[in-house]
Amino acid sequence: MAFASVAELVNKALDGKTNISTIVIEREMEESNRTREEILAQMDYNWEVMLASMERGLKEGLRSKSGLTGGDAFKLAQAGKVQKYVSGRPMMDAVARAIAVAEVNSAMGKIVAAPTGGSCGILPAVLYEISTGYGATREQIVNALFTAAGIGTVIGSKAFISGAAGGCQAEVGSASCMAAVAGVELAGGDPEQAAHAGAMALKNLLGLVCDPVAGLVEVPCIKRNAIGTAGALIAVDMALAGIKSVIPLDDTISAMREVGLSQPVSLKETAGGGLANTPCARRLEESLNLGDFN
Ligand code: SF4
Repeated sequence: MAFASVAELVNKALDGKTNISTIVIEREMEESNRTREEILAQMDYNWEVMLASMERGLKEGLRSKSGLTGGDAFKLAQAGKVQKYVSGRPMMDAVARAIAVAEVNSAMGKIVAAPTGGSCGILPAVLYEISTGYGATREQIVNALFTAAGIGTVIGSKAFISGAAGGCQAEVGSASCMAAVAGVELAGGDPEQAAHAGAMALKNLLGLVCDPVAGLVEVPCIKRNAIGTAGALIAVDMALAGIKSVIPLDDTISAMREVGLSQPVSLKETAGGGLANTPCARRLEESLNLGDFN
């Protein structure tokens, strides 16, 4: 389903007077030789898994296997019952859901990598929040997942989607970008607005390094899902208001590649630098029994 560029996707959608998801679904049907129903059913299952992971992560008592993280989604959701969120309810409900999914991932639970396990909370949280606010149908949500997938394949072919290859900009940055593009479509925006939202979301995470403490996908990964979600939602609102990214999404993806290639190995999931190399992180690492993870 690889597309050469975001521009190709957007232009095909504009030419066909349709949206990006339709183009992605049609390409997937052609390449996989499967029916529309089969493809939609598979993506619907992905949404089901995303829903279950959001629900599970919001429950009390979830801890990661290392014991380093867990319980923050529950804490945040509970806080919203007794106090006003400074950032507003829709934003923080989405953030709580993003953290929830990321915590399920850290607890070795079932999630949908979107595009990776480390960044799995952003896409479901953004789509859930927008679908709730706009009264979108399940079919529209599933379609939006195809939009996100289409953008993810462009990023994967033009740059990278793993922290080991391109730093956290490639994981959380890509997820935020995919969620922003899909979010605009779900909210009723057009393909050009969607691409602008994706560019704005990704631009703000360019340069983000991959520096997981003790090499575990927990710290800072889980909280970066929160920030990636917030950035995506802001980018959606900006694009829907008519704000354009001066640098188009294709160029932004190329810039992400260039930045990723220039990052040192110590900042690419090796736990050799950044937050992973702080005194606190090294103390935590020593206190963990990492043998349990082998
Ligand atoms: S810090 Fe590294 S492991 Fe964690 S989410 Fe970012 S890219 Fe993934």
